Amino acid sequence: MMSYFSNLLAALVGQAPEAPPAPSTYTPTTSNTPTIRYSHVKLHPQVDNGVAKAGAGFSGGTLKCLCPTDKVEVQVSAQSAHNHICGCTQCWKPKGVLFSQVAVVSKDKLKVTAHESKLSIVDPSQTIQRYACKDCGTHMYGRIEDTSHPFYGLDFIHTELSDQKGWDPVNFAAFVSSLIESGTKPTDMASIRGRIHELGLESYDCLSPVLMDAIAAHVAKSKHQA
Ligand SMILES: [Zn+2]
Ligand SMILES: [Zn+2]
Repeated sequence: MMSYFSNLLAALVGQAPEAPPAPSTYTPTTSNTPTIRYSHVKLHPQVDNGVAKAGAGFSGGTLKCLCPTDKVEVQVSAQSAHNHICGCTQCWKPKGVLFSQVAVVSKDKLKVTAHESKLSIVDPSQTIQRYACKDCGTHMYGRIEDTSHPFYGLDFIHTELSDQKGWDPVNFAAFVSSLIESGTKPTDMASIRGRIHELGLESYDCLSPVLMDAIAAHVAKSKHQA
C-alpha cells in the first residue's frame, strides 16, 4: 500500500513540464490569438500579463507572509508542480484578486524557517490543514494528514509569496464555477472563461484531468485492495 502511495506521489510531482533551456522570460501566450477580447478581465497577477515559463533547473525558493516585519518564512527546496489558479472558496488569495494561485510540492521539501509560532491552522475540520499567519492571514502551506487521501504527501503552496522567479507556471484554472459561491455574477462567467482561454489555459470546474484521473485511480486501487 505504501509503495503505491509513494508511486502516486512520485507520478504527481514528476509531472511538472520539462524546463526549457532558455532563461526564464515572460512570453505572452496570446500571440497566436488574433483578437484579444477579454484583457480587461483580471484573474490573478501571475497570469494577467501572460504566463511565465519555468526556469531551467529551478529548485525552489522562500515563501514569505505579508507582515511588514517578522515575516513567517517557508523554505521550499524543489520546483513546484500542478500550478493553477483556483476559484474555490477555501484557498487564500490577496485582497481584491479573483482567483487564488496554488501549486504542490512534496511535503519533505517544505520547511518553516522563520516565525513558525505565528502559524495556526485555519480550520482543523478541513481535509487540507491550511497553516496561516495569525497576524496577516496569509496561508503559508496546506497539508493533508489523512494517509489514505490521494494527495497525501503533497503540500499546497502559493508560489506568488516567493521573490524567486522560475517556478512551474500556472497551467490551468480549477473550480472556476465556484467563483459564483464567493459573489461573482453568473453573467460574468463567460468573459472570465474567455480570458482563461485567451491566456492559453484550460478552464475546469473541478481539478485538471491529470489530477482527477489520479484521484479516480487511487479510489479504484483502494477498492481493489480492500
Ligand atoms: Zn504574517
Ligand atoms: Zn482552491
